[in-house]
Amino acid sequence: MKVTKETEIYRAAVKEFGGAHQTLKAIEELAELQRALARDYSGEGMKTDLHVCEEIADVEIMLNQLRLIFDPKEIDDWKDSKLERLARMVGVEIEEEAT
Ligand SMILES: [Mg+2]
Repeated sequence: MKVTKETEIYRAAVKEFGGAHQTLKAIEELAELQRALARDYSGEGMKTDLHVCEEIADVEIMLNQLRLIFDPKEIDDWKDSKLERLARMVGVEIEEEAT
């Protein structure tokens, strides 16, 4: 896996605040996104789109930290198999990557 500056930041955050704390933070951010999406879906207000985008960014940042707290290889394996299933459902052909 290529270690980017972004990954370094996630790693530093998990080290600084701890896995348990960042897991709770992830739960918090997921709840904020859930609220923003529910508000958007119900059509309350017109400014919600920006808020949804902000909350998606927060959740992506926390998901990247959860990858480091849990098992990235296991997560990738699950993701591959779920994406393959989704691809079959929507009729997208998957090209095998050369190794
Ligand atoms: Mg947030």
